[in-house]
Amino acid sequence: MNPVSYARPSDVAEAIREVASDPGARFIAGGTNLVDLMKYDVERPTRLIDITRLPGLDRIEALPGGGLRIGALVRNSDLAHDVRVASDYPLLADAVLAGASAQLRNAASTGGNLLQRTRCYYFYDTATPCNKREPGSGCPAIGGVNRLHAILGASGSCIATHPSDMCVALAALEAVVQVSGPAGERAVAFADFHLLPGEHPERDTVLARDEIITAVDLPAPRFGPHTTYLKLRDRASYAFALVSVAAAIEFDGDRVGQARVALGGVAHKPWRDTSAEAMLTGKLPTDAQFALAADRVLGGAVPHEHNAFKIELARRAIVRALRQAADATPQHAAEKRIQ
Ligand code: SF4
Repeated sequence: MNPVSYARPSDVAEAIREVASDPGARFIAGGTNLVDLMKYDVERPTRLIDITRLPGLDRIEALPGGGLRIGALVRNSDLAHDVRVASDYPLLADAVLAGASAQLRNAASTGGNLLQRTRCYYFYDTATPCNKREPGSGCPAIGGVNRLHAILGASGSCIATHPSDMCVALAALEAVVQVSGPAGERAVAFADFHLLPGEHPERDTVLARDEIITAVDLPAPRFGPHTTYLKLRDRASYAFALVSVAAAIEFDGDRVGQARVALGGVAHKPWRDTSAEAMLTGKLPTDAQFALAADRVLGGAVPHEHNAFKIELARRAIVRALRQAADATPQHAAEKRIQ
């Protein structure tokens, strides 16, 4: 039994002071990942800072430029079913609804979704070493069971993947993470928020321990119906992605003006390759062009013993997702079987 104290701050400033005052303190909102980590003895917080009552963070508000500000405490379910999100950002709504279960989505928060940790089996098994859990102890996934692990951006220290669906859509939409800390507020581009493992896989994000996510900003909508979130997994629901693709296309006449492609299930963070996206600009939206872009995305892919299948799976998923985005056929309305 690990003793844990509890605090419920009344505003963001107090929450930051609380977490800064105790190196063992952790914020808790929905708890859908942290409580699991505590049960597995991976996380041992000495103090839980309950942020669920912080005022103003449970709203979705219009931004002056036409975007939306999603408060960090907005529940995943409320986000997916918000009429503005469902109509203007169907890519995000579909990605959120592809994740977890209805019960978990009812509890999980937007900020927490960004901060959830890898589901690498070794990370959760405290009887094994793991560089992410205990830096310097080793990575048994390399050379071990690695079917779910990364093919892009991994390191010799860690080959874990990021588990979120929501974050893949937010990467494609170029969201901005709003953060508060003892030094004030800052905005972090989504592409810069999550980290690759490098030699420090214990760090998942650029967030300091005494900083808190207050909101996620969405730019003004621009892709109309030309988006799709395609998630491929071992069973039809309540499973993490083997590969997922968030695809969006803005047309310029009958040609691609701008394309966005973000991948989940393949790297330590949502994976984007802007050079592959740029290859599509000015081109007709053909499967052949999409395949060339997919080849660019996966050019640096490195398989491990059990996950080489992900490279071809990702290649086909990118082409399929871009096809669906071009045709304005979101995955939830499409044939889910991959031919
Ligand atoms: Fe730990 Fe990363 Fe290796 Fe998994 S892949 S065992 S999380 S170091």
